[in-house]
Amino acid sequence: MLDNTAQAAQVLLPLAGQPCKSVTLALREQVTRRPFVRSTNLVKDNTLYCSSLFGEINEQIDPGDYTEGKLWLMNGNPVTPGTALLVYRLSDGQRGALSTLDGYHLSNVLRLIGRKTILLLQVGSNWLSPDGKYHAGPLPVIPVAQTTLNSSRYAFTVAAGFPEGETWRYMLSEYPPLFSLLIFFGVVSGLIGHVLQKRSTSPSVEMQRALEAAEFIPYFQPVVLGDNKKWSGAEVLMRWNHPKEGLVRPDLFIPFAEHSGLIVPMTRSLMRQTAALLAPLSGSFEAPFHIGINITARHCKDLQLVEDCREFLANFAPESISLVLELTERELIEPTAITHQLFEQLHALGVMIAIDDFGTGHSSLGYLREFNVDFLKIDQSFVAMIGADALSRHILDSIIELSVKLDLSIVAEGVETEEQSDYLTAHGVNYLQGYLFGRPMPGEQFIIKLSDH
Ligand code: C2E
Ligand code: CA
Ligand code: CA
Repeated sequence: MLDNTAQAAQVLLPLAGQPCKSVTLALREQVTRRPFVRSTNLVKDNTLYCSSLFGEINEQIDPGDYTEGKLWLMNGNPVTPGTALLVYRLSDGQRGALSTLDGYHLSNVLRLIGRKTILLLQVGSNWLSPDGKYHAGPLPVIPVAQTTLNSSRYAFTVAAGFPEGETWRYMLSEYPPLFSLLIFFGVVSGLIGHVLQKRSTSPSVEMQRALEAAEFIPYFQPVVLGDNKKWSGAEVLMRWNHPKEGLVRPDLFIPFAEHSGLIVPMTRSLMRQTAALLAPLSGSFEAPFHIGINITARHCKDLQLVEDCREFLANFAPESISLVLELTERELIEPTAITHQLFEQLHALGVMIAIDDFGTGHSSLGYLREFNVDFLKIDQSFVAMIGADALSRHILDSIIELSVKLDLSIVAEGVETEEQSDYLTAHGVNYLQGYLFGRPMPGEQFIIKLSDH
């Protein structure tokens, strides 16, 4: 557009100074022939003296209005006062030619190019907005990504940018497939992550692996005789020798093992390892050595337990050991035809039954008789009451009294002090177990210490 306007001025510049009458046609010819050119004018001594619109005229012009002496954005003229005009000036000494470009064309271009952007045309200290309005003064700030670009050939600048919030509107409208793809991959990777996490942290899968890798190993804690403190047996306590976590305490994994049913093969593996460790010594045991194994209710659902015990006992010299199954009072076994059969067969094998954590659950006397219980293991929370207030001690005394009446042997768990040990012995508790006499220890260590005790 500006090229057309500039060419019109170039053609007319040589005519400047000639009488208006003789050049009016030439002025009008340029307006007719050149696209976008609205009017052409000639200047002499800063006086506009001839115009394509009015013919002869006399109007002062101020070269200072023109940016770089060349371009002026003005707010209309007497013919169309409301429409911005861009005036191009070409001068040669005292002579000059002006050609004008209608702001209507310019604002159209700003609108059409910048459908989704804001485009502003700046000439000197004036500027034009896409709605065709003329403004004086500095450009406004455009909210998003404001840029300006100077023309390399004419004295104007274009400022561009986006309205507020355009970034997201733009992404959403321009890239719907990309967005759906992002959401799709987000959901897919979320799902994959979820599955992987579930798989890798699923305790039963991890424990199945550990079982096959023989990571569940027995630790042994001695049980001593109340009167002479000789080792009369041991409780087998499971440990998870985890390759990364190290030695894991049973209360952290036994609940999961019970839940998944893996506890049954895990206990079986523990019994086999125990037999392999202790059977070679069984010839040297004077009296039957008690070996306590913790059993869950789940293990008592069928007669498989009888076979497990039979296999265990077959490893030892006859009468050299007493196998004691410890059943916690917190999850009691329901008396059914199968369980009665189970306990009958266990007793026939010579296997003994201990009620573990006694006092923390709610087994009735009938229950103790029904399953032919041999031992009560007093929970360590009661042992800890020794030395405390009279009421607590009274509870402990009642438990001891009860077992005496029922003709059951008692094992006191969690004996940590001499005071507890003395008290229990004085009250006729036959067996003691606790850190005072030995902590749970690995098999090799237990075998070495066993000969000393
Ligand atoms: P529990 O059968 O009551 O075993 C006694 C727990 O008391 C053991 O904890 C033992 O280390 C701890 N203990 C022994 N003496 C003392 C003491 O003087 N002071 C204190 N504060 N604690 C003492 P552990 O080995 O961590 O076993 C915790 C529980 O995990 C066991 O309680 C038992 O319920 C279960 N558990 C262990 N091994 C097996 C297993 O092979 N099978 C099953 N089903 N459960 C097991
Ligand atoms: Ca136990
Ligand atoms: Ca216990």
